[in-house]
Amino acid sequence: MPPLMLYDTWSRALRPFVSIEAGRAGMYCCGPTVYDHAHIGNLRTYVFEDVLRRALVRNGYQLRHVVNITDVGHLVSDADEGEDKMEKGSRRTGESAWTIASRYTDAFVSDWRALNLLEPSIWCRATDHIAEQIAFIVELERGGYVYRTDDGLYFDTGKQHSYGYLARLDRAGLQAGKRVALGAKKNITDFALWKFSPVDVKRQMEWDSPWGRGFPGWHIECSAMSAKYLGTSFDIHCGGEDHIAVHHSNEIAQTEAAYGTRLANFWLHGRFLTLSAAKMSKSNGDFIRLQTLRDRHIDPIAYRYLCLTAHYRSNLHFTWESLYAAQAALNRLRHAYARWRQKNALADARFVARFDAEVNEDLNMPNALAVLWDLVKSDLPDATRRASVDSFDAVLGLGLRDWTPLATEIPEDIQALLDERARVRLEGDWAKSDALRTTLQLRGWQVEDGRDGQRVLPFSRNGAE
Ligand code: AMP
Ligand code: ZN
Repeated sequence: MPPLMLYDTWSRALRPFVSIEAGRAGMYCCGPTVYDHAHIGNLRTYVFEDVLRRALVRNGYQLRHVVNITDVGHLVSDADEGEDKMEKGSRRTGESAWTIASRYTDAFVSDWRALNLLEPSIWCRATDHIAEQIAFIVELERGGYVYRTDDGLYFDTGKQHSYGYLARLDRAGLQAGKRVALGAKKNITDFALWKFSPVDVKRQMEWDSPWGRGFPGWHIECSAMSAKYLGTSFDIHCGGEDHIAVHHSNEIAQTEAAYGTRLANFWLHGRFLTLSAAKMSKSNGDFIRLQTLRDRHIDPIAYRYLCLTAHYRSNLHFTWESLYAAQAALNRLRHAYARWRQKNALADARFVARFDAEVNEDLNMPNALAVLWDLVKSDLPDATRRASVDSFDAVLGLGLRDWTPLATEIPEDIQALLDERARVRLEGDWAKSDALRTTLQLRGWQVEDGRDGQRVLPFSRNGAE
C-alpha cells in the first residue's frame, strides 16, 4: 500500500501519516453541542471522520478514538458572549438543560449508528469532567496565562507568541479592527476559561470552583478531556472547518500553555455541507436532519453514500436531486451485491490496490467509488467481485453485508403508478413519465428503465425504516 497521505491544516500540506507510537493512533474529534438535533451538515463531518478512522485501521493502526459531547458552556457567540446554548434550549422548550442534554445526546448517538459510524473508544461529556477542566485552568493560572474580569476568567492570548498559527490569524489586524468589541478583554482573541454564574439569574448548570460558582468555557473541555484520554500530544485532531479559527486555535493555545506540547500532530478539517449557497447551521432553526430524510424514504446510508461522492476538503452542496441519485446508486450497488453468491473467493488484488491508493491519497473517496463501480461493472467472477466489495466496504462503511432485499411485493397503488408510467412512456410523454418517477421516489420506490421495461426497487433498508 502507498503511504497514507493526509492534509494537515497546521502545515497546510499533505504529509505521510506516521503515528507517535508505532502501530497505534489516537484521534480526537470534536463532538456535538447537544441543545438540538444534529443537522446533516454536522453529520457530514462525522462521516468524514469515520472514513478517516477506517482508513487508519486499514493501514494497520490500532485506534483510540475519542468523541466529546458538549453539554455545557458553548455560548451563542463564539466571542464568549450571550447565553449558553443549553440554557437557551431549555428556555425554548421549557425543559431542564439536563433533560435536553440527555435527549439530544441519545438522538445524536442514534444518528451516529444509523450512519454506520464506528463506535468511538470513548464518548466523553463535558459535564462529567468539570474537575479536570478546573485542574487545567489552575495549571494555566500557574503559568500566568489567566486574568479575571467581572464575568469570568480569560486566557491571555497576548502572552503566547504562537497563538492562532493554525488559522494563520492576523492578530494585529484583528485587534485593530475590532477594538470596540473588546469589552473587558485585553485582546480580541482572548477567550473564557471559566464564566461566573450571573448574580441575578439562577443557572441550571453550575459548579463551585476556586474562583467562584460558574461553568467552564467551551474550549477547555476539549483540552482537558483529550489530555485525559489521549495524553497532551497525540496523533490526529479533527473537526469541521469552522473550528480552525476559534475553537481549535484555543484548544491549541491552552494545551501549549499548560504543557508546552503541540496538542496534535495532524489537524484534519472537513469542509461544510452547504444548502442554497448558505452554510447549514443549527442556530438558524431551519435545518435538515436525518429524520427529514427518512420522512422522504431516504435511507441514512444513502446520505453516507452522498458524502462519499465529494472529497472531504471540498464543499458538498446539498440538493434533493443529488441525494436521490445517491440513493439510486446505493440501491443498484446493494442489489448487485445481493445477487452475487457468497463463496470462498479472494478479493481481486489489482482492484484492491487501486482502491487503497485512492483512499491513501488523502481519502479520495470519489475516486475510490469510481474504482468500486469499475469493479461492479467488470467481468470478474461474481464471488471475486463480492469479496472485493467486502474489502472496500471496510472503508466505505455502507454495511452491504447487513443489507437484505425486501420481499419485493409491489403494493397495488405503486403498481398502478407504474402501469400509468408505462402507458405515458408508450405515448412519448416524457414529462409525465418523469413526474411519475418523482412520485414513486417520494413513496419510497425507485424506478429503473432497462431494455425490458421498467424495474422498481424499494428504497428502505431491511424493511426497517
Ligand atoms: P456543533 O454541534 O455545532 O458543535 O458542530 C458539530 C460538528 O459539525 C463540528 O465538527 C462542526 O465543525 C461541524 N459542522 C457544523 N456545521 C457544519 C456543516 N454545515 N457542514 C459540515 N460540518 C459542519
Ligand atoms: Zn473541541
